[in-house]
Order: sequence, then structure tokens, then C-alpha cells
Amino acid sequence: MLTVEEALAQILADVDPLAGQFTPLEESLGRVLAVDLSSDIDSPPHDKSMVDGYAVKIADVNQHPVSLPVNEEITAGQVPTRELTAGTSSRVMTGAPVPAGAEAVVMVEETELEETESGPLVRIPGQQISPGANILLQGTSIRRGDQVLTAGTRIRPLEIGLLAEIGQASICCIPVPRVAVLSTGNELVPASEVPAAGQIRNSNGPMLSAQARRCQAEVVSLGIGRDDQAELEELIQAGLDADILVLSGGVSAGVLDLVPAALAAQGVNEVFHKVELKPGKPLWYGRADHDGRRSHVFGLPGNPVSSLVCFELFVRPLVDRLAGRASIGMRCRQAQLQGHFRQRGNRPTFHPACYEGGKQGGTVEPVRWQGSADQRALTTANCLAYFSAGQQEFSPGTAVPVYLFEALDD
Ligand code: AMP
Ligand code: MG
Repeated sequence: MLTVEEALAQILADVDPLAGQFTPLEESLGRVLAVDLSSDIDSPPHDKSMVDGYAVKIADVNQHPVSLPVNEEITAGQVPTRELTAGTSSRVMTGAPVPAGAEAVVMVEETELEETESGPLVRIPGQQISPGANILLQGTSIRRGDQVLTAGTRIRPLEIGLLAEIGQASICCIPVPRVAVLSTGNELVPASEVPAAGQIRNSNGPMLSAQARRCQAEVVSLGIGRDDQAELEELIQAGLDADILVLSGGVSAGVLDLVPAALAAQGVNEVFHKVELKPGKPLWYGRADHDGRRSHVFGLPGNPVSSLVCFELFVRPLVDRLAGRASIGMRCRQAQLQGHFRQRGNRPTFHPACYEGGKQGGTVEPVRWQGSADQRALTTANCLAYFSAGQQEFSPGTAVPVYLFEALDD
């Protein structure tokens, strides 16, 4: 049986990020740039004033108090109409272009304006002002043609701002992978229904869809499939439109565990079935190459904890890889075990647990539950604590790696 590491290596083997596609700027948040991008403009685009004030010549204002006539008023969005000559000033607002000939801008707070018969005069007390004060020169932060973002950059709101500034209204970035989710089982009814005798509500479907959305995949929900080979095949066929098809249930050794056969019949080639892991041993993974592209297919065990764990350990890294992200899968921290933990059986265990701490480390307490389908207890977890095989008893204070559902740092 494959180890977790071997299984993950087989899933990620020769998987490249999806091909770049043009995406409107507003929809690019969270995606990864597929190309290097350069600017079509200088930034700032003109020598601009960084304050509200008066553009002046240094020699006019240094040391001695002075009163200067005001040539014009330039607000942001306007352009100066008059060159600044010695013995004059121009009123400029923050962001506005300073007039040609301006050597510095004196802040309005340091001046006094006086209306006279011959026009406005600005009184500036003698001061030490250096050349270029309060002026940001054209191209200081970006020169036209500069490469400002590189392929592989994940787009955050900050990058969106820069992309807008450099005129990228439509950006070549890696699309979000499409994940189809299909829950299988005769016993399942949707959350909106009251289960009849022998039935349970489908909790895996909504949970797996949400896990996929949390890693920013686009989700296609295929609802519930009965344990019937023809019905499963039809739904699987629809699911193969997606980059990843995630099924839950029907991959164990029960008489109605028909998923592997239905997948094979739809041309999905098995890569592995079963992983040395608890929970989640019956995991099935295969690939279908069709219409010039590839679909990855996961058959997750139906037990909700197994489904949860297998998604985080195996599906999430694949979503990250297809989306072109530099960092793949859950973030790992070291934690000190609170209380005892006893392994049953001899498989490496990823046990839902509650981690408290920061980036450097903290404490972890495994969730105590009544049976493996205890969803209520599960909601206290924020990570998976890893307990290696071969050791049965873990005592308080043992160092345990934990894998976080939600990263603390991004
Ligand atoms: P299976 O892998 O189909 O043998 O299912 C294992 C266990 O998980 C059974 O107790 C199922 O009833 C349960 N189960 C399967 N699918 C779901 C689901 N979508 N939501 C909740 N429980 C499920
Ligand atoms: Mg089943």
C-alpha cells in the first residue's frame, strides 16, 4: 500500500498549472499571473505635488519672508498653463502637476493668502527649503517599460491596484480549477429533507464543495448519485468536464461500492486504490485523458471524517498546483500535545484537532468524539494532528506536527 507521501507524489506527478487565460481585472483576485507584466506609463506620470501648497523658486523663499503673486491654481486633473518664473508662485493641490520651472512646493499650512487689488499674494515666512521639496518626479516609482510584476505572483488587492495603474484591465492569469462534487449512496437525502428510516442527510457534498471553494476552486455540484452503476456512470461522465471530480462513498469493500467499476467503465484509469493512512485508507485516485485535456478523479471514502481528511491531504494540493500557487497544501506547525493520545491500529494517523498558537508553535488537543461520524465534535477542530505509525501511546508534551485548515499567515 502507498504511503501518504507516495500517493501525493503520484497525484502531482507531471501536473503543470492550467494554461493562462485572459481574465477581467475585477475577477483576478487570488489567481496567479501567467506572464511577466510591464508598465505602459511612467508613475507618477508627471512631476507632481505631494502636498497642497505653493510652487516656488528656492531663491525666492529661502531665509527671508516674502510675498509672491499667485499665477494660477492647479488642481489634480488639470495641467499648468504658465511656467513658474522668479518672483512668482502657483497654487498646487496634492497630486496635481507642478508647473515647469517649479523648484519646490511650500505647504499651504506654512503660508498666508492675502487678496489685493492686483490679485492674490501669498506670504511665506523665511524658511530653509531644499530643491525638490514636496515634489515627486515623473517616473520615480515606475519607468515606462519597466517589468513590475512577474509570472507566478499571486494577485492580492495590492497587486490589483498596481495592475490597474499600469493599464492591465484584462490579465493573463492561471484560471481557477473546476471541481465537480458527487456524493454517492442510497441512504443519502439532501439537507433540505427529513431523513426517512435508514436514511441520513448528505453532509459530505456541501462540506467538500466548501473545502473546494476555500481553496478558491470553482465548484460544480452534481448532487447525490444512487448506488446504481448506470446512474453513477452518467453522473461521472458529467463530472469529467471538470479538472477534478471528487466523489464520496462507494470505494470500500461493501456490496454496493460500485464507484471504481463505474469510473473504469467511463475511461478513468486507476492510479492507486488505498493508502496507508487513518482515516481514509480506501481512497481511490485515477485520471482520464479526453478531448485533449485531463481530469483527475478522487473517490473519497464516505465517512465524513475520511472525506474531510482525504480532501485536505490529497485534493487541496492538486488544486493549488493546477492554480499555479507556489505553496502547496496545508501549512505545517509544530505543537505540543495536550493530554494523552492513543493510536488504534498501526497506520499513520491524521486526527482532527484543535491547535492554539502562532507561526512558531503552540499546543494541540485532538478532538474526542463518539464514533467516526461525529460531525458535532469535528467542528471544534482547526487542524489535523499527525501521529506516526509504530507508536501507540503519545504522552502530554510530545512534539506533534499539525496541518492547519486555514493558514494563520495568508
Ligand atoms: P461508504 O464509503 O459509501 O461505505 O460510506 C461509509 C459511511 O459514510 C457510511 O456510514 C455512509 O452512510 C457514510 N456516508 C457516505 N456518504 C455520505 C455523505 N455524503 N454524507 C454523510 N455520510 C455519508
Ligand atoms: Mg456507500
